[in-house]
Amino acid sequence: MRLVLIGPPGAGKGTIAEKLAAKYGLAHLSSGDMLRDAISRGAPLGAKAKEYVESGRLVPQEVLGEVVAEKLREVKAFILDGYPRTLEQAEFITALPYVDIDAVIYVAVGEEKAVERLRGRRVCAKCGAVTHADAAEVCGNCGSDDLVARADDRPDTLKKRYEVYMLETEPVVEYYRGRGLLRQVDGTGSREEVRARVEAAIGPFGARGDDNR
Ligand code: ADP
Repeated sequence: MRLVLIGPPGAGKGTIAEKLAAKYGLAHLSSGDMLRDAISRGAPLGAKAKEYVESGRLVPQEVLGEVVAEKLREVKAFILDGYPRTLEQAEFITALPYVDIDAVIYVAVGEEKAVERLRGRRVCAKCGAVTHADAAEVCGNCGSDDLVARADDRPDTLKKRYEVYMLETEPVVEYYRGRGLLRQVDGTGSREEVRARVEAAIGPFGARGDDNR
């Protein structure tokens, strides 16, 4: 099964992708995680991407495209989270001979809700688990109290990310709708509610996962 997860910042893509990856045995490929990891390791990709990520702009396709293509070549079954984000990137994926997307899950949330989630988002500095500042003071996964905001969740950067999403990524939703691949899911409500809706949306694909393609 090859899935793409698409939605605005704050839609909960990372959380959903992790759960789906575990349930269906898929590799979770997150472009944002790849970039943050490269930045924190001081890798060449990170050096090129840092200023874009930290200001909420898109990393140029010539910096990111080949890295994603390489990752996709290594896995058979995956959930791709955060890529494609522009029409150029969507066409790039479509043209890769070894990638045949089964479905695109579009997680829809309004700006107000998304911004509220991201303002309060905290990442555990020890294990990387994500929580909301209103929900917990310690990490629900490892118990650490070292919870930090992501550098690009500051209000001005957040606003920029949302603008970029509306301008660049919404057309990608229409691109996949036009190709008959889109499954739209309501992204409001609890994590469990959203996850149940997503699973219902991919149900027939999940059941067909005998060859785990
Ligand atoms: P979110 O979906 O919450 O905005 P991500 O973790 O997916 O966060 O992405 C964080 C940042 O990484 C983006 O704002 C952008 O700078 C960069 N990035 C991630 N994916 C892409 C992509 N496909 N193309 C260009 N830049 C990207």
